[in-house]
Amino acid sequence: MNTDYISDDHFHDECGVFGVFGHPEAANLTYLGLYALQHRGQESAGIVSSDGHDLNVHRAMGEVEEIFIPSVLLKLPGHSAIGHTRYSTAGDKAILNAQPIMIDCNKGKIAVGHNGNLTNAADWRRKLEHRGSIFQTNSDTEVIVHLIARSQARNLSGALGDALNQVEGAYSLLVLTHDELYAVRDPRGFRPLVLGKLPSPDGQDAWVVASETCAFDLLDATYVREVEPGEMVRISRSGIESIRFSPPKPHQYCIFEHVYFSRPDSIIFGRSVTHSREMLGRLLAQEHPVEADMVVPIPDSGVPAAIGYSLESKIPFRMGLIRNHYIGRTFIEPSQAIRNFGVKLKLNPVRELVAGQRVVLVDDSIVRGTTSRKLVRMMRDAGAKEVHMRISCPPTISPCYYGVDTPTREELIASSNSPEQIRQYLGADSLGYLSLDGLKRSVNDTQGKFCTSCYTGNYPTDLVQLEVRESSSNGKTIEPVTVVHET
Ligand code: AMP
Repeated sequence: MNTDYISDDHFHDECGVFGVFGHPEAANLTYLGLYALQHRGQESAGIVSSDGHDLNVHRAMGEVEEIFIPSVLLKLPGHSAIGHTRYSTAGDKAILNAQPIMIDCNKGKIAVGHNGNLTNAADWRRKLEHRGSIFQTNSDTEVIVHLIARSQARNLSGALGDALNQVEGAYSLLVLTHDELYAVRDPRGFRPLVLGKLPSPDGQDAWVVASETCAFDLLDATYVREVEPGEMVRISRSGIESIRFSPPKPHQYCIFEHVYFSRPDSIIFGRSVTHSREMLGRLLAQEHPVEADMVVPIPDSGVPAAIGYSLESKIPFRMGLIRNHYIGRTFIEPSQAIRNFGVKLKLNPVRELVAGQRVVLVDDSIVRGTTSRKLVRMMRDAGAKEVHMRISCPPTISPCYYGVDTPTREELIASSNSPEQIRQYLGADSLGYLSLDGLKRSVNDTQGKFCTSCYTGNYPTDLVQLEVRESSSNGKTIEPVTVVHET
């Protein structure tokens, strides 16, 4: 059994990255940037800063606000910094895997923060370990670091290009040295990465880089452009340089960033997330109309699509479910008799609104089906006369190998059940998923630039994918499942 892969598969799921170059408050700005990107990962966070000579690091488990207290930020001096916030559902939440990774090698001190997932990391790790490399984390990012160290290139941009041309998959990457900041995006551009500017007190503009533009809004930074797929942006005292490190490949922007993952106030892949989400809801209403009294979103993720559904169908939008935003990670359940709150802790129906009403419940996705099932029951318990479930994307049938946390194929309810079977499981009066065509129209994908593999099972990388299979007798086993050729 290849346990490395299990780890790799999970350790870069869902992350946010932020970087700044040329500002005396680099670490403070990075802290604020990570704060705005907290939704991309809540398990651990880290910042590395450069004072021009040396790199300083602080990483810890937990949320950005609790980790980066003033006394910690004071220990991160300098004019440049990168930060990372990471989420993982794997049991192992070791601080060991928190990022940015920092190493001291023949190319000097380097810090790396990675959003995405490499699909050939396990192969590389085996090969490198065979040749004597000693790995210190379970993360696929460390493969990049070893490949940088082994490169014969004379400068870091060359070594980084060498390393990245040997790995496959998704990476939006920030690399910090004592006097440079690199922002790199894989040639298919799976994950977002944006470049911005903000005035520095020393009179020059500082450069900022982030997973999402919402981080720039908080800092009053100006959005300049995306880091292009296959582009390495090198930022130094002498300015900004754009390096192409790879031949162009067909773009594969993650469509799920627009469906769920990014914040609605961000511009992702050059398009407003809110515009996409409202359009998802509008087209959902066209494809799956129903006679009802109100459209109720599942907050927060279902809100923009529910607004779109309501605008299109002319059925009133009502906040029939209220979310408790204050559930900490350390919530301790009381005694057995009153536990098993499940989703109730987070969401509660407004009985006075929904009783006796025909309700359209809108959410962004169904993964295992457990949330939707409980919510349908809660709505009925609150007196709803009819509950119609509407989902603003197609059935999620296949896991993501490019950096979104999805469970194994077996756990995805839509991988082995028809929409009608799912409707029965949910106990809903009707169920409607947006079509793939509707999804592509909503993000204005006229040129086939988006990755939709979680809805189709067709993976865009030319690789044998490995998947963790649950086997009742042997525990977890791993088998190759699909060979897909580059589009
Ligand atoms: P489930 O109960 O497994 O069907 O989960 C469905 C809920 O999970 C929906 O409300 C989604 O908004 C949310 N969701 C979908 N994908 C993800 C993801 N990758 N990470 C966290 N939450 C998600």
